[in-house]
Amino acid sequence: MRIKTLTYTNLYTKAISHTNTANYSFISTNKVDTVSFKKQNKKENTPFIYDTRELDLHCACCGKLMLKNSAVNEFINTKIYLPANTALKRITYEQNFQIKDQPENMQKAYNFIKKEAAQNPNLNIEELLNTPKVQDYIKKADHSIIAALDELKSRCKRVSHSSQYIVDEIEKLNPDFQQTESIIFQNLKILSKLYPTETIHCILNKPEVKEHYLKKLQNKQNSRLKKVTPLIQQLSPEYSQKAESALMQSFKIFNTESTDIIHKRTRVIEKFENAFTDINNATKQDKAVSDLIMKKLDKLPDSKNDVNAFMVKYARKNENAIPKILIERLRNTNDHVKPEHRKGDEGQSNKKNYLSLCGKCNHKRNTESYFDIIHKNPQMPENTQKQIDEIIEYINNGILADYDTWPNDIKTPIGLESEGCIFIDTKKLDIQKAKASRIKRLQEYEEKEKHKPQIEIAKGTYRRHGKKD
Ligand SMILES: [Zn+2]
Repeated sequence: MRIKTLTYTNLYTKAISHTNTANYSFISTNKVDTVSFKKQNKKENTPFIYDTRELDLHCACCGKLMLKNSAVNEFINTKIYLPANTALKRITYEQNFQIKDQPENMQKAYNFIKKEAAQNPNLNIEELLNTPKVQDYIKKADHSIIAALDELKSRCKRVSHSSQYIVDEIEKLNPDFQQTESIIFQNLKILSKLYPTETIHCILNKPEVKEHYLKKLQNKQNSRLKKVTPLIQQLSPEYSQKAESALMQSFKIFNTESTDIIHKRTRVIEKFENAFTDINNATKQDKAVSDLIMKKLDKLPDSKNDVNAFMVKYARKNENAIPKILIERLRNTNDHVKPEHRKGDEGQSNKKNYLSLCGKCNHKRNTESYFDIIHKNPQMPENTQKQIDEIIEYINNGILADYDTWPNDIKTPIGLESEGCIFIDTKKLDIQKAKASRIKRLQEYEEKEKHKPQIEIAKGTYRRHGKKD
C-alpha cells in the first residue's frame, strides 16, 4: 500500500476495526484525514489548487469518475458520523451504556466531552477530540481518562443513521461505481426500502438477510471449487494427491466451519499453495496445470468482486463500515507509481511518483506492477492518458499550480512500471498558456478580494446608520 494511501489505509483499517481496547496514541493517529489534509493542500489566499486529489478526475486504472479527497472526508464526517452531541445521547440507550453505572473516570470523561459536544453541536466525535480545548484537556489527563475518551469515541463512531438516510445521501453524490459496488448499492437500496428506519448494519445482521447472502456466497464458493476438480485429475499422482486433500479441506472450510470464522478464502488459497510448494521442480505439465488451478482459485468470491462476500464480511464489522467502505472506494488517492513498499526497491512519496487512482484500484493493486495490472485492466493505458489530458487541461487553464513539470516527470516512472505498455503523450501541455491563465486568475481573484472588506465595512456602516436613524 502506498503512502498517500496511508490515509486510506488508516481509514480502511479503522473502518473494519471495532475493538474497544484502550489506545493511548489515538490522539495523533486519527488526525490524518481531516487535519493534515488542511495543512498540505489548502494554501490560503490563492485561487489555485495544489493537489491533484482535489480535482475531478477519472481513475487512471478503471476510468471511473472519482470523488475528491476532501469530499470523501466531508461525507464521512458529516453524513456517516453523527454529531457528537447526538451520538453521546444515543449510545446511552442504543448501546445500553448507563453512565451512572460507569467507573468514576468514565463519568468524568463523559461529562467533560458531553459539555464540549453541546458547545460544538456540528462536530463529530473525531473533530471534537481534535479541538484545541479538548487536546489541552487530554494532555493533562491521566491514562484512565484517555482510555475512557477512546472508548467513548469508539462508541460514538458506531452510532449510525437509518439505511434510508445513508442510501439517499450516497445517491446525491451520483457515484460512478464500478460494477461490484453498483450491485452492492442496488442491494442496499432494496433493503432500505424494506426497512427504511433501521440501520444498514442491523438489516444485514437480520437472520433472514444474513442467511440469504451467506447461502449465495457458499454456492459460489462451491461451484468455483468444483471447477478445480477436473484439473486435479490432470496432475501426476504426487501432486494430484496433495491437491485432492487441499480440495477436501477447502470444502470443509467453506461449508462446515462456523460462519464467524474469517479469512476462509485466504486459507483455501494457502492450502493449494502448500500443495504446490515445490512445483517448480516438477514437470512442465504439472506446472501448467497448477497455474491453471491457482488462476481458478483467484476467482473465488471476495469482498472486492462479489456482493455476497462484501455483505457477509462487512456486516460483521462496525456499524458504519459498509457506507464508509463504499465511499472510500471512490476516493481520489495518490497511487505510488513505483510502489512504496516494493521490497528492496521502494518508490518515493512525492508527486513525481504519484498518479490518481480510485481507492478501490489503489487498494487492489498493492505492490503489483502496472504491467501486471494491465493484464486485468486492458483499458488502463487509455485511461491513464485520459487522466493526464484532464490534468494538463487544469494546468493550461491556470487552475492547478505547481504541476507544470509533472506530466513530463511522470512519463518515465509510468513507462518503467508498465514495461512500456503505457506511453504518455504530453503534447497538449502549454506552459505559456498556463502562465498567462494563472496571472489572469490571480488578478481576478485579487480584484475580488480587494472588494470584499469594503462590502463588509459598507454593510456595517449601513447597519449603524440604520440603528441611529
Ligand atoms: Zn479505479
